[in-house]
Amino acid sequence: MNLNCLTIKQAHEGLQKGEFTSVELTEACLAEIKKRNSELNAVLTVCEEEALAEAGIADKRIKSGTATELTGIPYLAKDNYLTRGVRATAASKILENYIAPFDATVIKKLREAGAVLLGKTNLDEFAHGSSTENSAFGPTKNPNDLTRVPGGSSGGSAAAVAANFCLFSLGSDTGGSIRHPAAFCGVVGLKPTYGRASRFGIVAMTSSTDVPGPITKTVEDAAIVQKIISGQDQNDFTTADILVPDYQAEIKDNIKGLKIGVPHEFFREGMNKEVEKKVKEAIEFLKKQGAEIVDISLPHTKYALPVYYIITPSEVSSNLGRFDGIRYPLTPNPSPAGAGEGSLIDLYKKNRGKGFGAEAKRRIMLGTYALSAGYYDAYYLQAQKVRTIIIDEFEAAFKEVDAIITPTTPDIAFKFGENKDPLKMYLEDIFTLSPSLAGLPAISVPCGTVDKMPVGCQIIGRKFAEGMVMKIADKIL
Ligand code: GLN
Repeated sequence: MNLNCLTIKQAHEGLQKGEFTSVELTEACLAEIKKRNSELNAVLTVCEEEALAEAGIADKRIKSGTATELTGIPYLAKDNYLTRGVRATAASKILENYIAPFDATVIKKLREAGAVLLGKTNLDEFAHGSSTENSAFGPTKNPNDLTRVPGGSSGGSAAAVAANFCLFSLGSDTGGSIRHPAAFCGVVGLKPTYGRASRFGIVAMTSSTDVPGPITKTVEDAAIVQKIISGQDQNDFTTADILVPDYQAEIKDNIKGLKIGVPHEFFREGMNKEVEKKVKEAIEFLKKQGAEIVDISLPHTKYALPVYYIITPSEVSSNLGRFDGIRYPLTPNPSPAGAGEGSLIDLYKKNRGKGFGAEAKRRIMLGTYALSAGYYDAYYLQAQKVRTIIIDEFEAAFKEVDAIITPTTPDIAFKFGENKDPLKMYLEDIFTLSPSLAGLPAISVPCGTVDKMPVGCQIIGRKFAEGMVMKIADKIL
């Protein structure tokens, strides 16, 4: 077997036994990226020299007996993570030449654990989208079928794991961006609880729902990475001081007697019947493993889409305000006041006009509108109220059940250009948005194929119950 095809667990064992070195493992990943990235466009920046140097250091650490499970393990990070000394573009023209001056907390934690950063992956610009077609640097292709999208927005990260470019990758999830591409590419994607891992150093999209998380080949690998990246961070005051359990031990438990809820609202008209069948087979399998399957109802989750598409553009319009062309310039700095050629206003217009793609502009306009005086109460405030109802509804459901299972997406990966209408694209996230609005942990795990394309099912848990969702997902895989 090629070294780049190993799981984290297998590679860790091989490294410990001295069967191969981290340098060899890293070289195998770099070779695969060289071989296939021109076709897939999953990776935007490769850090070959730095990666090989980090791998050399990891090999010494392994020999000295101080290795962690991630020491010497090569990974890729979505290009909205800041990585010291390396380009961080968020797949936007406006950040095309931006070199990050420091590491995101999650990157720092991985560095301390000895993981090897191979480079940065493609995404929808600023993580707005579900296909990577919004990237300013061209779309990523799905390794299972090059005519289809990999999902998004962490499409590069999911495709890279599916194509064995790396042993794991980091994505970010605001409304589904880890789970959605994981489902489309046939890999595991974990969105942890909001506040479980630090957002510091990740280009902000929707600050009230953004979370970092792993994309992996197995659930156990997700447990290994999540354990390391979790924890409170003084640079992100929304992170919680809650014990990070031993997820690996937790996922080995059986699921006998667990109550798993199936919300009928998530098995809806218009979804691909074959996809629905695969998810129902997974539910049947969990029943055979001793879980009790309970029909539940989450009636307000049908409003998750409109609520999300008020709250997200509102936060996006505010978060993208910092890209004014001065701190992150595209065109030379301005001369004096006024509104004409060469003025400050002119500079804003030129930079933002040229620097942002169509979807970013659409969200800035929608968000600015929803937040403006006179409309704030009707849109933003109203959306926040409905969001609270959605949160309460999940809380009530979790008094009855231990976890909830749903499809991750309504269909298999679509073909390029098929979802040109933005509203159609927004519908892609119909099943992943509500756990994001409620800040709950959720995982997508492969549960079969339809027309040779992967299908994912989603397990949602109580706050900070990542172990529970991974335990159930592990049984399905
Ligand atoms: N597809 C959703 C959106 O475009 C979710 C994106 C994300 O989770 N970053 O907003």
